[in-house]
Amino acid sequence: MNSLRFKAINDLTAEDKEVAVEGSAKITAIFGENVFTLKTAREYLSDEAYKSLVGSIKGGKKIDRLVANQIAAGLRQWAESKGVSHFTHWFQPLTGTSAEKHDSFFTIKSDGTAIEEFDGAALIQQEPDASSFPSGGLRATFEARGYTAWDPSSPVFILEISSGKTLCIPTIFVSYTGESLDYKAPLLKALAALDKAAVDVCHYFDKNVSKVTATLGWEQEYFVIDEAFVNARPDLVLSGRTVFGHSPAKGQQLEDHYFGSIPERVYAFMRDFETESYKLGIPLRTRHNEVAPAQFECAPIFEEVSVAVDHNLLMMDIMDRVARRHKLRVLLHEKPFAGINGSGKHNNWSMATDTGVNLLAPGKTPKTNLMFLTFFVNTIKAVHDYADILRAAIASAGNDHRLGANEAPPAIISVFVGQYLTKVLGDVKERVGSKFDEQDEAILKLDLHRSIPELLLDNTDRNRTSPFAFTGNKFEFRAVGSTANCASPMIALNTILAETLKGFKKDVDALVDKGEKKEIAIMHVIREYVVSSEKVLFEGDGYSEEWHHEAERRGLPNIPTTPLALDSMVTDKAKHLFESNDIYTHAELEARHEIELEKYIKKVQIEARIMGEMVTSHILPACIKYQNKLIENIKGLKDIGLAESAYSNQKQILTKISEHIAKVSDLVEKMIEARKVANAISDTRTKAIAYCSQVKEAYFDSIRYSVDKLELLVDDKEWVLPKYREMLFLR
Ligand code: ADP
Ligand code: MG
Repeated sequence: MNSLRFKAINDLTAEDKEVAVEGSAKITAIFGENVFTLKTAREYLSDEAYKSLVGSIKGGKKIDRLVANQIAAGLRQWAESKGVSHFTHWFQPLTGTSAEKHDSFFTIKSDGTAIEEFDGAALIQQEPDASSFPSGGLRATFEARGYTAWDPSSPVFILEISSGKTLCIPTIFVSYTGESLDYKAPLLKALAALDKAAVDVCHYFDKNVSKVTATLGWEQEYFVIDEAFVNARPDLVLSGRTVFGHSPAKGQQLEDHYFGSIPERVYAFMRDFETESYKLGIPLRTRHNEVAPAQFECAPIFEEVSVAVDHNLLMMDIMDRVARRHKLRVLLHEKPFAGINGSGKHNNWSMATDTGVNLLAPGKTPKTNLMFLTFFVNTIKAVHDYADILRAAIASAGNDHRLGANEAPPAIISVFVGQYLTKVLGDVKERVGSKFDEQDEAILKLDLHRSIPELLLDNTDRNRTSPFAFTGNKFEFRAVGSTANCASPMIALNTILAETLKGFKKDVDALVDKGEKKEIAIMHVIREYVVSSEKVLFEGDGYSEEWHHEAERRGLPNIPTTPLALDSMVTDKAKHLFESNDIYTHAELEARHEIELEKYIKKVQIEARIMGEMVTSHILPACIKYQNKLIENIKGLKDIGLAESAYSNQKQILTKISEHIAKVSDLVEKMIEARKVANAISDTRTKAIAYCSQVKEAYFDSIRYSVDKLELLVDDKEWVLPKYREMLFLR
């Protein structure tokens, strides 16, 4: 009885675990107070330095050394006024989290005097000891050093960690020879590619457009449970998910958690992490319970993609830190608990012009309707042509539990547009090949502006099964996993759209060159695109068996597991796409592919090890103890001369327990053997496939099946692992 499990349960009821939260200030009073915004910059920088910074943020202009010194001095002055003593280059290595290396402003001059210093060189470039960040062989091939370089497009901020405060400088992370080793560098390139391609297409409609910015509003799902339960579960500590655990009598079937009132302790935690987020300028707006017990969601107001990506990553970090303060743990894993919903991170995405137009908002006039249709249809075509690239961009061991299983959304990439737009596209398509005529005019005169939002309001939220849904004025990429760095899907999405728009411009120009009127040429190409990509459109239930058959008939790819989904990162098609848009070289793509495979292998390997360990040191001892009790009991009843019927029930339980023990032990042995075989494979892809099919698929579920049966059979008092009902319902 002296297990962590019972201690956790006892403490939960005995202790008051609520942590006091600072009185809630008005959001506007604290919003962005820890960010070096342009307004702050105005205060701390000279005219010259300020102008140079603005030029760099808005126009990507280079900042020279002397000015960098001035900016660094201003930053230090601001930071010190807020009690900061250290700075770090903050970057996004391919491990999936963010990385920091703290240095203090403190330094000693050659004559021995100690001073506080932070100069332009320290601001612009650092050489972290990066040898253990994943490089997929890049640094080995080229040069062993990796550099972080200041990215002025993201604002500098101050991270408050309990007592310490650190000045964080957002950077990109590259190898000595310039290959990117992070998510940020390629993201900025993809956004630049989209900007250029989209501005070119916008010029058909409005010559005043000079910049197109992609926008992102993410919705983060997560679980919150008491830290004592996590501490008692080695699987949660090491892999972020429960590899065992029988589903509780009550799961999410009543759906009583969804939008229910938020439990007090969790509420306090939310207010606390929201405050931290506001200080960092993260514009969180909504919070609510999700469908599964102990599952929640938060979402900010959308922002420019690169800033939104930073903010999501920062927020995941803050959530984790703040939860610990509240003796809670945030689980960001895609599938922490079997049998109830997993967590995703919907990426709401659109594009905005510097003239203030949302390019995916239905138009009010024929001209703006045509512009809307252009970007709308190009997005559909991009998703159709590069579904495999999008699939690869969201592939991970954790997300396989959602995409590969019978859960939202499926691994088949399809686009949902709603009834009304389906009809509009149908009308456009009808007249393929014929001349542009009044009927086309009629389409453009449709009151899309009014009709679409109204119709979609009823429609979209009902189709939660689509991985890529149009939701009135933006697309929502729902297949992204909850732990993902949004940069990965955003690199893919913005690149494929840039490529498609480039093709579109070529196609339209070719017709115009032949003497076609511009609007008519555009309409023709749109029609062509609707026809060639309509098979990616799907309005029905994405979870259904029929859709899987139908998708196969349509020839849409459906790759449920990561090792194979990643193949499309290194096809000729992918290489051409990413190289011609200046996002990745071949070497960079190969390296990334390797890194993703490695990540997958490690994740599955860790889970397999945990399973083996838990079976041996947690599950079996409890089972054997209870087995012995039953044997004693049966023996005793027999000894005093009772008939078999008096202990037949005990015997039955004993038999079942013994059978499951034998089975589990046998399977674990075999799984260890399979792991050894997989470990001996040198080719990374083959090894990942082996881990997927020979280790995970061959053993995980069958081992779990018996362990979960044992959980039900064994005396509750002997079971040392916190059970689902406790983790999910006690707080
Ligand atoms: P709901 O999905 O509940 O109808 P909204 O449509 O307002 O709510 O927004 C959902 C998410 O989409 C929010 O994070 C929001 O900021 C984001 N969003 C709204 N408009 C855009 C846009 N133009 N570009 C990117 N994200 C957007
Ligand atoms: Mg949504």
